[in-house]
Amino acid sequence: MSDRLAFAHALYEGVPLYDPKRAPVALDLTDNTNLWGLPPRAEATLRTIPVARVTRYPSLYAAELKEALADFVGASAERIVTGCGSDDILDSAMRAFGEPGSVVASSEPSFAMIPIFAQMNGLQYVGVTERADHQPDLDTLLAARPRILYLCTPNNPTGALLARETLERAVREAPGVVFVDEAYAEFAGVSAVDLAMQVDNLLVIRTMSKAFGLAGLRVGYGIGAPALVRDVEKSRGPYKLNALAEQIALTAVRDDMEWVQTHVALAVTNRDRLAEALRQRGYAPLPSAANYVCVPVANSVAVGQALRARGVAARPFTDLPHVGDTLRISVGPWPLLEQFLDAFDDAVREVNA
Ligand code: PMP
Repeated sequence: MSDRLAFAHALYEGVPLYDPKRAPVALDLTDNTNLWGLPPRAEATLRTIPVARVTRYPSLYAAELKEALADFVGASAERIVTGCGSDDILDSAMRAFGEPGSVVASSEPSFAMIPIFAQMNGLQYVGVTERADHQPDLDTLLAARPRILYLCTPNNPTGALLARETLERAVREAPGVVFVDEAYAEFAGVSAVDLAMQVDNLLVIRTMSKAFGLAGLRVGYGIGAPALVRDVEKSRGPYKLNALAEQIALTAVRDDMEWVQTHVALAVTNRDRLAEALRQRGYAPLPSAANYVCVPVANSVAVGQALRARGVAARPFTDLPHVGDTLRISVGPWPLLEQFLDAFDDAVREVNA
């Protein structure tokens, strides 16, 4: 029996509430946030924000933050749109460019919210299994004639960096708009932002949740042609970025870049060290350009549960194409990863006993 109300929107019948099963745990390596914490100037701003910032409305479209983000990515502010997390950019952009029933095509596996946002916006989701080299099957994606083509680089959950030629061809041949999700681009050191300066059908989507350590503030942004981002901004609506988020994000992007770069470099070093430690145990982690490692592990759900029993969480995936069951492990300070490795060794022993 359905518990839905008679006047509920039919589209929402099949929309689940997002539940990545993130019950509190002592060491949480499931969400790829910044495990080193908050950049220092941003923290100082957080602690000294005048109360009046909260009693008034924030700025309409975060103009000052757009200027600072524009400097950071090497664009002009008219090419930037901000949002309440990059989730909001993705959702608003789908609403802006999808007509009822339009096709949203995405390589799979990828970010779990894409089919949900498509469904919420009355769009038709088409998932296309990636190739064995973890690159998208662009021929099949393009054959779906998508109004919106979603690509994620480095991809979540595999960590694969997409080839530049793939992105260029996608933009050249797609019949509609291409979304390139760069939530983890800082860790890869490459970006398609320059491509977004040259064409009018590419929206690059970024976040301050990962490298900048501001996941709880919910700050995301999009970069593209001025006419493209203007429609995302209309769809997003005014006042979406709250006043505290705008102020703290502004400090982070203007004054904390040294801290951010240092910790991105540490994440990259520790990612490669974690991958090597897993290889020494006989595993074959997928090459990652992000701040996490995706490693094929038989019975990953059971191993994940055994890890949880030891106070450690990593995200299990089942039956990923070409690789099977995997665990995705966020990278952080090395002592935490050592703690993970110890718990992992025990957990695997228990599951295989
Ligand atoms: N895109 C990708 C690929 C992600 O992994 C995430 C977060 N897990 C997001 C977008 C959304 O991030 P946020 O809304 O915090 O910016």
